[in-house]
Amino acid sequence: MADVLIVGAGPTGLLMGCQLAIQNVPFRIIDKNEDHTTQSRAIVIHAASMEIFSQMGISARFLEQGKRVAAINFIIRDKVSHIPLFSEYGAGLTQYPFFLALEQSKTERLLQDFLEQHGHVVERNMELVSLSQTQENVHALLRNKEGKEEEVIAKWLVGYSVNPGFAKLV
Ligand SMILES: Cc1cc2nc3c(=O)[nH]c(=O)nc-3n(C[C@H](O)[C@H](O)[C@H](O)COP(=O)(O)OP(=O)(O)OC[C@H]3O[C@@H](n4cnc5c(N)ncnc54)[C@H](O)[C@@H]3O)c2cc1C
Repeated sequence: MADVLIVGAGPTGLLMGCQLAIQNVPFRIIDKNEDHTTQSRAIVIHAASMEIFSQMGISARFLEQGKRVAAINFIIRDKVSHIPLFSEYGAGLTQYPFFLALEQSKTERLLQDFLEQHGHVVERNMELVSLSQTQENVHALLRNKEGKEEEVIAKWLVGYSVNPGFAKLV
């Protein structure tokens, strides 16, 4: 029995896994997709996240790969609004007084590297298809790409769902 089953290896699930790995809490992490995203998606990292990465010893890797945001241009049709206020944002309050631009694909890669270095792998092509819970446990039904099913019993399931059938349980 896993203590925790993490469903979804986006930035949220990966960071959850990293924190559990640090605390030596047994867990499994699954994702229905074959690999992490290749898209930029959530592209800005804020100071609070950088502080957590610093505690994990990986902030330097984010700084190497990311770019400090000096300004943002909003372009609507031909009109450009230039907002230069983001440099030194939070100066005096944090070691990271800026917004760091880094594609979600790279954030996921760095968090996955951390997990792997701590002996955990994301189980890919593995989908949560149903779940139920008792007072003590969560019973999750997983299905892999080949259609093979596995029932997992865990103390906790961590996930997010837009499926109304799951929403009341996770
Ligand atoms: C096209 C697109 C563009 C975006 N652009 C931006 C942007 O410009 N800026 C910005 O800040 N944010 C953007 N976002 C939002 C950003 O991607 C999300 O805020 C971020 O991904 C949330 O991270 P997460 O880990 O919570 O969820 P996700 O990254 O969505 O990860 C959830 C994971 O769970 C897996 N999963 C879902 N259901 C199951 C299941 N039943 N079984 C197993 N695995 C499952 C999925 O495969 C996925 O990998 C964009 C999102 C999309 C889709």
